[in-house]
Amino acid sequence: MNKPIVYLIGAGPGDPGLITVRGKSCLERSDVVLYDYLANHRLLEYAPPHAELIYAGKVGGAHNREQGQINELIVAKAREGKVVARLKGGDPFVFGRGGEECEALVEASIPFEIVPGVTAGIGAAAYAGIPLTHRDVTTSVAFVTGHEHPDKGNSEIDWEKLSLGSGTVVFYMGVRNLTQITANLIHHGRSPETPVALIRWGTRPEQEVLTGTLADIAGKARKVSFKPPAITIVGEVVNLRESLRWFDNRPLSGKGILVTRSVDQSSEFSGLLREKGGTVFECPTISIISPLESSELDGAIATLSSFDWLILTSVNAVSHFFQRLTASTLDSRAIGRCKVAAVGPKTAEALRSHGIIADLVPTDYKAEGVVDALRRLGIDGKKILYPRGDRARETIRTELTALGAEVAAPVAYCNVLPAGVPPEILEALEKKLIHCVTFTSSSTVRNMAELVGENRLLHLLEGVIIAAIGPITAASCRDLGLEVHIEPKKYTLEMMTDAIAHHFSD
Ligand code: SAH
Repeated sequence: MNKPIVYLIGAGPGDPGLITVRGKSCLERSDVVLYDYLANHRLLEYAPPHAELIYAGKVGGAHNREQGQINELIVAKAREGKVVARLKGGDPFVFGRGGEECEALVEASIPFEIVPGVTAGIGAAAYAGIPLTHRDVTTSVAFVTGHEHPDKGNSEIDWEKLSLGSGTVVFYMGVRNLTQITANLIHHGRSPETPVALIRWGTRPEQEVLTGTLADIAGKARKVSFKPPAITIVGEVVNLRESLRWFDNRPLSGKGILVTRSVDQSSEFSGLLREKGGTVFECPTISIISPLESSELDGAIATLSSFDWLILTSVNAVSHFFQRLTASTLDSRAIGRCKVAAVGPKTAEALRSHGIIADLVPTDYKAEGVVDALRRLGIDGKKILYPRGDRARETIRTELTALGAEVAAPVAYCNVLPAGVPPEILEALEKKLIHCVTFTSSSTVRNMAELVGENRLLHLLEGVIIAAIGPITAASCRDLGLEVHIEPKKYTLEMMTDAIAHHFSD
């Protein structure tokens, strides 16, 4: 049996990048992960595939008996000899009941380790552009629970000392009691003009900030039905946000963007969109699989030295070509004197990871660009290997053949339809949480229509901005009756991201 251990890990306030290096490495070695509502669920991707993932949270906070059950579960899993990661929002020891969980482990004589996290009060303040202390403004900060009912008369909070004793006061769980909290602070001597900020879902793309004063913030929050989870910051430092705001005023802040690429290709694009502040939804409309039959490609690989050019027009083509090369117990050296053309910089980069530097990358990153460049070099009588996707356009094969080349174009990979569109994506489209849908190839457009149904898709995309990576993808959109609003000048993900950001900042 393994040695059991429990890691009490602070997941940070929401942005998955804010977990600690230690926290990530503990997750990576876990057998069981018990996670909370406020811990960003994307962090679960760090758990190994065999790990059991258990949701242990409850919206609005667990009450006593449930906390007891959670403690029992942690102890029980550890007693099975498992490495248990207890993943909690923010920091485990700041209003997180981590202390109680630790006590249960001490009682059961189970070893544990505490991994601190960025607590919401600190994370949300930073992402709202509010320094909690500032030499010219205040020298102290207090973290307080806003959960207890302040007008019960038996408050454990010394409101008088709190109101005047700490420059900045940060309330957790304070939204429901905001009226009483602000009234109490004013009643005990804090100026009604003191600035206040409410930060909801701080550090996440959907972060919302509402500012006001002790006198009017409760009314403002009621008016817009401001909901938890939120941090309330009281103090003059709140005024600094006006000049230090940086996160929620980026070009795509508050915008939902749908990425429709295949699973293994979406992360790069999603990352670029997130950097600009977008809330990314991923809906893969393509699954890439190996073909059932690869003897044609294998045959070509066996005679690779007789080819003059190898043309690769996507990252998928590169990876599947090299898969077959490896399956034939060969490596990059088999390419020998054969020259290699890559359709664009991403394909060239994929080739470089196999130790091959492309001899040709056209300036126009499309099939036509490859054909033009080769035409200029002269390819009459040359032998060309073009491993392609099963849905590739015929351009390369027919045009190069017309120029006198001998072209072998075996299928290296197949684009298939995934099982369906995840229900949460359909719901986000229905509720208009998605403001922009991106298509990065004609297949993504056609597959989306096939998965959702043409009429329903047109209905779901009413009023939604459509971005297409290039003219061919745009034409596929228009064929379906979709208007295309964004088309980048160059057909790269970076340019597409810039074009989307530009569209939304106008
Ligand atoms: N241990 C956690 C706090 C748990 S108490 C931590 O250290 O952050 C739960 C409260 O934390 C919520 O009611 C809310 O006030 C606050 N909170 C947690 N995550 C938040 C976020 N991303 N944005 C704003 N408030 C958050």
